[in-house]
Amino acid sequence: MTNAEIAAALEELGILYELDGAVKYRVLAYSTAAKAIRESPVSVAELSAQGRATEVPGVGKTLAEKIAALIETGEIPAAVKLKAKFPPTLIEVTRVPGVGPKTARRLFEELEISSMEDLKTAAEGEKIRDVKGLGPKAEENILASLERLGEPGEGPGRLLLSKVKPIAEELAAALREHPAANRVEVAGSVRRWGETCKDIDLIATAEQPAALAEHLAGHPLIAAAGKPGPNGVRAQTHNGISVDLRIVPPAAFGNLLQHFTGSQAHNVQLREEAVGRGLSVSEHGITDTESGDVETCETEQRVYERLGYAYIEPELREGRGELKAAREGKLPDLVELADIKGDLHSHTTLSDGRNSLEEMAEGAQDRGYEYLAITDHSASHGFGDHVTAERLWERIDEVRAWNESSGSRGFRLLAGSEINIGLDGTLDYPDDLVAALDWVVASVHTSFNVSEAQMTERVLAAIENPNVDCIGHLTGRLIGRREPYGVDVEAVAEAAARTGTMIEINGNPNRRDLSDLHARLAAEAGVKIVLNTDAHGVDTLDNMAYAIATARRAWLTASDIANTKNWREFSKLLKQT
Ligand SMILES: [Zn+2]
Ligand SMILES: [Zn+2]
Repeated sequence: MTNAEIAAALEELGILYELDGAVKYRVLAYSTAAKAIRESPVSVAELSAQGRATEVPGVGKTLAEKIAALIETGEIPAAVKLKAKFPPTLIEVTRVPGVGPKTARRLFEELEISSMEDLKTAAEGEKIRDVKGLGPKAEENILASLERLGEPGEGPGRLLLSKVKPIAEELAAALREHPAANRVEVAGSVRRWGETCKDIDLIATAEQPAALAEHLAGHPLIAAAGKPGPNGVRAQTHNGISVDLRIVPPAAFGNLLQHFTGSQAHNVQLREEAVGRGLSVSEHGITDTESGDVETCETEQRVYERLGYAYIEPELREGRGELKAAREGKLPDLVELADIKGDLHSHTTLSDGRNSLEEMAEGAQDRGYEYLAITDHSASHGFGDHVTAERLWERIDEVRAWNESSGSRGFRLLAGSEINIGLDGTLDYPDDLVAALDWVVASVHTSFNVSEAQMTERVLAAIENPNVDCIGHLTGRLIGRREPYGVDVEAVAEAAARTGTMIEINGNPNRRDLSDLHARLAAEAGVKIVLNTDAHGVDTLDNMAYAIATARRAWLTASDIANTKNWREFSKLLKQT
């Protein structure tokens, strides 16, 4: 049983409990554990078999027992019981953004809505507005959500960061320009650079709050908005993203920004630790429980300082040990975009890219890089437009010629290839050609549906190949669309560290592969990590920002990343120099 399947079962149980009226914290425990299991770099089924499931963050004894039962029988007894009480299609209804389990239960009881079809019919028939606590706005939101769910490619309620971030930034910029605004920040998972987000949280201070709220409501990106007021406004963009602008007193800006940046896990741990020291933390301030004195903080720095921590970068706020590190002064000095000296995975029109070699070279120079590897696809990757062996020999000459005429000490192109790893672990070019390349990325593009053991063997074979410099997008996941394929990341990382094979963090926002947790594991195992864009055009060279963000969420510093080095130093890291 995969981590994803176990996570889905626990998530479902959490929803069932909530439908049944369980208290929020109990429900939260299930979704928190489900997330940790889904993100776990090791097989939870295996851990469970060894009686070690409780090693997963958020999994206690009770949950471990439920997981064991699930693996053994395919069902969790508590879920079976509750499923007899609620129609299975009602669970789908709870996942519609704007509905949730509480509302779903009400709709079930009052309007006998038990499926998505029922929900749609009721919303279109204007029946939902009459349910207590809902109203016409809620009905409109539900209709908008249903429309959006019709589009493939996105998990219900979660959108890819790259779809949300540009909108959040445009709205924040528009608010900052308004004369009534003082400070405007994007909070939430967008600020933490999470893989997906549910909505946009904006926190602001303003001279005339109501005027600023009205400005947001009238922005061209906004399709509908509630009533703007001095505390802000809730709105929805044309593509259905909820936007929440909170306008707050300047004296508590730091508290509110910290609170709404999250994550939930980070904030829960922060509050619990504070309680132990006689302090109570909320979005409104920090209360000394003995004296009752409340301190509000203008800045986040002050919030952390007051609680005894060094400032914690938003990317680290996931409840993964950052509070302890911040207390002990052991937070990592995170890598930054300015540290990056080159990009080692890019495509041109020779395979499926949109720009020529010359244009890509110029794009890389514009970004201040010292090197760019051109890595078009090998023959068997399955998208067409592949490069034959004969053509690749020519391409090597073209790259050499470009370096002669246009290169300099400050910038060079590398003749490379992204070579498909065959089912048996072999590469699909002759050895002499592969050896002639400056740089080789080996990736899996075909035959995903093999056992974890077979996939691992396949990748290990590529790692043992002396000509392979780097493994591309190791797990093959497409966020929200394709689950990572089963591969033993620990075994791969061990072999990569031993052989000096690098592993990339692919910065395509659909991939971000290695994930943050896998990247942290790999770096701790001693693997040299490379941040790549896999750009298929000059514009997507900018996806380095997502690779950087993933690395930062993995706690990585510049010294963990190979392509923070200049060419001379970087070339020393190659397996064959
Ligand atoms: Zn690829
Ligand atoms: Zn690629």
